[in-house]
Amino acid sequence: MRVDSGSHCRANAVNGMQLSQSAAVALQLADFRSTEMALPGKMTTHTVLLVEDEPDVRDMLSFALTRAGFEVWEAESAEDAMQKLDGLLPSMLIVDWMLPGMSGVDLARRLRGDDHTSRLPIIMLTARGEESDKLKSFDSGVDDYIVKPFSPRELIARMKALLRRSGAATDGVLENGSIHMDLAAHRVTIEGALVKLGPTEFRLLELFLNHPDRVFDRSQLLDRVWGRSVYVAERTVDVHVLRLRQALKPFGADAAVQTVRGVGYRLSPIP
Ligand code: CA
Repeated sequence: MRVDSGSHCRANAVNGMQLSQSAAVALQLADFRSTEMALPGKMTTHTVLLVEDEPDVRDMLSFALTRAGFEVWEAESAEDAMQKLDGLLPSMLIVDWMLPGMSGVDLARRLRGDDHTSRLPIIMLTARGEESDKLKSFDSGVDDYIVKPFSPRELIARMKALLRRSGAATDGVLENGSIHMDLAAHRVTIEGALVKLGPTEFRLLELFLNHPDRVFDRSQLLDRVWGRSVYVAERTVDVHVLRLRQALKPFGADAAVQTVRGVGYRLSPIP
């Protein structure tokens, strides 16, 4: 048996059997469940994009991270991840090295080279332990890596450490005129007064604030706000846009959410 790390050793040594990667993750997930790990501060709003092509591993990591208070977005390929990153930026990216199509390393390199994603914290999942491969992943701009199989606890500890190191990038504030969105506090205010928004309306507004003046059609909004794994009728988008407008109305800012006939919606500059 190859020994890459302590956790690898423990995971594979159970009952003297070699376990598959996903079985090892499942096994350690049970261990994780028994010791709830609370995230420090207001971490419930941290979003993580998980890029992993193996459904079992993806599902189990998604479960563990959601339980730890992260909001998890999933992608099954680098290409899928790039489309999702075109809209909202998560707090961090977890990407598997080996993916069909573009590799995790190439995705990381590409994201580092793009202004929109250059500061996104990235953790690489890899089944390889060779030194040269580790160096290659750091060279591509990955902040940390973790060798499969690993325990969700270990991954979450690394994620928390990385979020602390990149604190500035995750405690962002978005503004448009009088609208002020504090991402860390998950709060929207207009001239100091709190705007009450549901979670979907918050994400809609966050997307609009990140892309002032850009028009999004309904399917783009569905992908970025609801995620592709959920089936939601396009009409639902209209319902939540209406709710967003209603929430902004007492502040006279509802007209900023504009309908572009035959196309979709955008947020226009607010005086
Ligand atoms: Ca893979």
